[in-house]
Amino acid sequence: MAADNVEEHEVLICGAGIIGSAIAYYLAEKGVKSTVVEKGDVACASSGKAGGFLALDWNDSSPVGPLARLSYALHKELATTLGEDTGYREVRTFSVTASAKPGRRRAARKDDLGWLDGNITRVTEMAEEGTTAQVHPQKLTRALLSAAEVKGARLLRGTVQGVTLSADGTHVTGVTVDGRRLPAKAVVIAMGPWSGDATAWFPGLPRIGGQKAHSILVRPARPVGADCLFAQLVTSSGQRTEPEVYPRPDGTVYICGESDSSAVPDDPLSITPRADAMTALQEAGAAMSSALAEGTLEAQQACFLPTSPDGLPVLGSIPGVKGAYIASGHSCWGILNAPATGKAMADCIVDGNCSCVNLAALSPDRFLRRR
Ligand SMILES: Cc1cc2nc3c(=O)[nH]c(=O)nc-3n(C[C@H](O)[C@H](O)[C@H](O)COP(=O)(O)OP(=O)(O)OC[C@H]3O[C@@H](n4cnc5c(N)ncnc54)[C@H](O)[C@@H]3O)c2cc1C
Repeated sequence: MAADNVEEHEVLICGAGIIGSAIAYYLAEKGVKSTVVEKGDVACASSGKAGGFLALDWNDSSPVGPLARLSYALHKELATTLGEDTGYREVRTFSVTASAKPGRRRAARKDDLGWLDGNITRVTEMAEEGTTAQVHPQKLTRALLSAAEVKGARLLRGTVQGVTLSADGTHVTGVTVDGRRLPAKAVVIAMGPWSGDATAWFPGLPRIGGQKAHSILVRPARPVGADCLFAQLVTSSGQRTEPEVYPRPDGTVYICGESDSSAVPDDPLSITPRADAMTALQEAGAAMSSALAEGTLEAQQACFLPTSPDGLPVLGSIPGVKGAYIASGHSCWGILNAPATGKAMADCIVDGNCSCVNLAALSPDRFLRRR
């Protein structure tokens, strides 16, 4: 259901993560100026703290497959069209088995993986050439929003507290931001793990929540290769972990893992990492490479993956309320799927249907059909 003839700033996007920013960008590409409301800071949550790993075909067996394939292509396009450094590059991807328990250090290899001189027992290539890549999620989110702002979008700092509806409850008329009412013909819920707050505004929505995960950034003591690594590691205390290790073009190495089920706090700026998770990620890096063991720790952080009840994104118009949309629940693939989500949602809002990818399997009404 398209919002009727949206005019300047009549599309209000709740949340300036990568999803809200990509929607603002593709709306601007269609000539529609949106307002993006953000309660913390642009990319202050998982969109600024994610790994940024992209894969063409790793979602092919899921209903997300077509969205992911389109998005992978759009990332490549954005790397040139945005005209900014977003840390995009194609990468090789390896599965690495390692142990933090004392053992024989691996003889240095002569290829690009020579920096993996830790206690490595197995290295296997996981992806065909040209099918994996990476971006710097925070730089990309900010670049998308800046490009939208150049075309007339605006960023408003504040907390969306609710929506206002027509007297008969059939269409959106505005939102309330910090007690102030803003008129809007279309409202998009793109609040990541906080999207669950919107079930109070649109009772038909599924409950979207969050899963906490941790990451560190290390500046290695020596230059490392460019390959992304999915590791299986046995820690010094005998625990099995699966950290992901992404060297970045800026010379840092991002390492993430260590999920837990903590509750999502209201304030995105109050999220703090667990000390033992930080130690575990540092130990993982050190077990794989002396360049990481002797490197400098530049960031220790945590954030929440947005999760839906069935693990799939929830994309499209909210049933029963004209002008209400949601784009959330992207779980561990929100950076990959952001460009196609932005393009598809812009189509839905402006044209009333999405021509670039079929969103039927991801539509919010799948939860109503199951009741
Ligand atoms: C450790 C980790 C590593 C990851 N690595 C990858 C990866 O390599 N590749 C990949 O594709 N994905 C990855 N992801 C997943 C990805 O980060 C997320 O799916 C994506 O960032 C979600 O974006 P979002 O815009 O939906 O949510 P968020 O980034 O959470 O943004 C939501 C925004 O909404 C704002 N907000 C919330 N409520 C309100 C309100 N009431 N009013 C105003 N503003 C509000 C918040 O402040 C926040 O800025 C990773 C995630 C984690 C946690």
